[in-house]
Amino acid sequence: MKECYLNGDYVDLADAKVSVLDRGFIFGEGIYEVIGVHSRKPFALSLHLERLDLNLSEMGLSNPLSSEAWSSLISNLISRNGCAFGTIYIQITRGKAPRNHEFPKASCPTVFVMISESAAKTELEKVIAITAEDERWRGCHIKTTSLFANTRLRNLATSKGAAEAILQYGGYLTEGASSSVFIVSNDGVIYTSPLDSNILPGITREIVIRLSVSMGVPVIEEKIEISRLRTANEIWLTNTSFGIRCVSRLDEGIVGDGQQYEVAQRFHKQLSIEKGIMP
Ligand code: PMP
Repeated sequence: MKECYLNGDYVDLADAKVSVLDRGFIFGEGIYEVIGVHSRKPFALSLHLERLDLNLSEMGLSNPLSSEAWSSLISNLISRNGCAFGTIYIQITRGKAPRNHEFPKASCPTVFVMISESAAKTELEKVIAITAEDERWRGCHIKTTSLFANTRLRNLATSKGAAEAILQYGGYLTEGASSSVFIVSNDGVIYTSPLDSNILPGITREIVIRLSVSMGVPVIEEKIEISRLRTANEIWLTNTSFGIRCVSRLDEGIVGDGQQYEVAQRFHKQLSIEKGIMP
């Protein structure tokens, strides 16, 4: 049986219980974090803990644990579950309170952490994506558990045989329903949307941008008209769970030559080296 962490205890996932009055259940009010595990080690932990801190302050909550305590909690979960590759999921809500839109004066946060195992993948994956209108709120920089708009958009993509919905707002690219988006123009320049309240500050996005500097092809962060995706040589999706994926077909059009995606291959390799899953 898988073990998770709930409010200070390690318990079987099937036995972990929270109150129906938890504000996460009643209002979908909570924040979360997803951290990659590669060869039994959390990847880019400090970046994830920094983002967790920012999200907690958006909620007006102080961090319930120190960085050292987070680090040992995560190591404990990895070893207790014998997990070599996968993801750690952290969720924090304001906890249980009588149902009222107003934040409770005193609250005892719910802190939940679980681990999911998955296979290590070293091949660059290619997927189909659709474009869709970004119907989310303008607080997308917060990693909130209120994800109905995202799940709805992802399911729209699935219903059209695609793996992801790439979103546009006011004619400009924002991001994917569960990923950051990069494009490579036909003169080899890499672009991504700038950080604002329309996108989540993805950790993989940040790592790709840092890698781009050391690889000598710095990513340009600028507003991208959605029409530019139609002529791009490459379109990448990035997130913690899958790293970098290439979009081979967007709506009805083939992206680039549909095959090679050389810039993505180089970044995928470099990212895999950083994660310690490629020599
Ligand atoms: N944008 C959205 C909307 C996401 O849900 C995610 C993944 N949670 C990302 C971007 C990528 O973020 P990260 O690289 O931190 O996983």
